[in-house]
Amino acid sequence: MITILDKTFVPFIDRAKIEERIGELASQISTDYKDRCPVFIVVLNGAFLFATELVKKVPLSCEITFVKLSSYTQTQSTGRVREIIGLEETISGRDVIIIEDIVDTGLTMNQLLEQIAKLNPASVEIATLLHKPDALLKPIDMRYIGFEIANRFVVGYGLDYDGLGRNLDALYVIS
Ligand code: 5GP
Repeated sequence: MITILDKTFVPFIDRAKIEERIGELASQISTDYKDRCPVFIVVLNGAFLFATELVKKVPLSCEITFVKLSSYTQTQSTGRVREIIGLEETISGRDVIIIEDIVDTGLTMNQLLEQIAKLNPASVEIATLLHKPDALLKPIDMRYIGFEIANRFVVGYGLDYDGLGRNLDALYVIS
């Protein structure tokens, strides 16, 4: 059990299992994108560890870039993506793979997909470490999902609680 601020978390998915699953996703991506040169768009902050492990295991010629999402704050509901910060590469005509930490309600991902579609990529797929199917509000086509999990708050492996816990090398769930 670990404590972060006022909450306690218990072990959920250990590092070996996470890395084994990431290996499987990487093999799938390597097969699907054989002879292509995809652009991975890593969504910061949460996806940084997942992306690091994933791209190391994909022996394709590829590009990797990072974006941060700017959301409306305070009076607006959370999860509203206002703009994508940092996407300097031209993705028009490219095969894009978005790397995300978790798709929960899907609001963030839906809006990110809309923004990316405006840049005319050839294709867009999603690789997410975690997905909470019970929380999803609108269907999203996600080709690469690490783990489908129950609708409970998790930390570790890039995911934070109030800014803390991202450096944990395994996933923990709130107890
Ligand atoms: P959405 O609800 O738009 O799909 O997810 C928005 C964001 O909420 C995710 O990118 C992630 O940063 C955060 N989030 C959703 N569920 C969890 C969770 O269980 N743990 C943590 N740490 N963050 C979460």
